[in-house]
Amino acid sequence: MANLVMIVEDEEALALLLKYNLEKEGFLVKCVNRGNIALAEIEKHQPSVIILDWMLPEMSGVEICKLLRSKPDIKNIPVIMLTAKGEEEDKIKGLTAGADDYVTKPFSIPELVARVKAQMRRAPEPQTATELVFEDIRMDLVEKKVFRGENFIHLGPTEFRLLKMMMETPGKIFSREYLLKNVWGTNIYVETRTVDVHIRRLRKSLNEYGADYIRTVRATGYGLDHTPQNEAEDNA
Ligand code: CA
Repeated sequence: MANLVMIVEDEEALALLLKYNLEKEGFLVKCVNRGNIALAEIEKHQPSVIILDWMLPEMSGVEICKLLRSKPDIKNIPVIMLTAKGEEEDKIKGLTAGADDYVTKPFSIPELVARVKAQMRRAPEPQTATELVFEDIRMDLVEKKVFRGENFIHLGPTEFRLLKMMMETPGKIFSREYLLKNVWGTNIYVETRTVDVHIRRLRKSLNEYGADYIRTVRATGYGLDHTPQNEAEDNA
């Protein structure tokens, strides 16, 4: 299941603390407190990332990790191993068992959350994101709606697709030709200047409620930039 983090940890207080903090970050979380049922739960729920404690009743984290790596349906799920031991030797044992990352207790919650996010980015599941976020711009991919803060931004279908493409790869500058091909499609005849017209419309709608993050690169194209653009440079 996309966006699901499975916590395999028998210390209930720690598991709940992690659950609370990961849910706050928008992840779905499922907790398992015993080693012997962990694999069955992982196979059943197919999480995107597993946080696996080393010391567990019935079966250790290292054993679970080794077994997991031998099962084709779950072997690619990233595993972050938790341990109270800090010795280098244990770390090596954990990593050779197939863990992708290794965190020693006590750890800071923000650090673990950051590591979960890093592993989530390389989770093997198909992209099933339900929203895209860039600065204060939020795109709901299910409802096909765009917001800046609380404000709903009305966009036409072409402007929506243009913004979606840019939000999927922020920082990338897309050429007009590329945008034409991927937003309009190859079998429709439109001039490259049409792109400028739609970018202008997109800007107008978006910028009503905030800074202009659409970057214009003269003679090249458009993309999103975290630094708001100077109005004077806008030649779209
Ligand atoms: Ca434990």
